[in-house]
Amino acid sequence: MTEASAAEYIDIGINLTHDSYDADREAVLRRAIDRGVRQFIVTGASVQGSRDALSLAKAAPRILRATAGCHPHHAIDLDAAALSSLDDIAADPLVAAIGECGLDYHRNFSAPREQRAAFAAQLELAIRHGKPLFLHCRDAHADFMAMLRERATVLPRAVLHCFTGVSTELDECLEFGLYIGITGWICDERRGTHLKPLVGRVPRGRLMIETDGPYLLPRDLQPKPDSRRNEPMYLPHIAAVIAAARGELVGDLAAHTTATAREFFSFAWETSSAADPT
Ligand SMILES: [Zn+2]
Repeated sequence: MTEASAAEYIDIGINLTHDSYDADREAVLRRAIDRGVRQFIVTGASVQGSRDALSLAKAAPRILRATAGCHPHHAIDLDAAALSSLDDIAADPLVAAIGECGLDYHRNFSAPREQRAAFAAQLELAIRHGKPLFLHCRDAHADFMAMLRERATVLPRAVLHCFTGVSTELDECLEFGLYIGITGWICDERRGTHLKPLVGRVPRGRLMIETDGPYLLPRDLQPKPDSRRNEPMYLPHIAAVIAAARGELVGDLAAHTTATAREFFSFAWETSSAADPT
């Protein structure tokens, strides 16, 4: 077996409830498992999406965990009733993190004021449940950091998923103590090359990897797939790009990012080779 094929990975951000996976969700997981992706954190980005993510996790608890949260795009929907539903979902032991939540001023599908209110409410949810945070931030770094700093003394551990920021932003995130999630954005020659010199600065123990599928299909796959849909089977490819940028062997990167993810999400796996993955 080659080093790459023996490596084991965890995809910490996969939107597995997305309807583009409805027809072949099990095959999507199987293809990824065949390439070494052992476990998956299923992103909840709305109340219903979180409920659906939890249902998937309940059906395959050895390989799936859910997050429960409301993406900043949907902040306008997070009224008191929705927050109370999220609170119930968050209590389930298979919910490994609160989020995704945060701020996204890139498109402002919800107004910034609404986004900040929804984000603040979810920070409190994570504090109350004692669960880690799965964070999203785009074009909102200053407000995002300011809100985290306000609650710094009581916040649980937190990962900024799909980090796409610049050098000074990375410094602030690391100094604050955030974990960093890197997607196939780094494979994008139009907008992701700035990440290559940055990823080497994320210390071991603070770095995790993700596909964010079905979004963000790596643009440097060879040959180019027929479908534009991203899948967790491409995580080893993303890992190889990150490893090269860090000057690490991909097996080494897989080992330390997987160990970090297992600890961060409190997601152990059974080591028995006879264990059925589902
Ligand atoms: Zn996101």
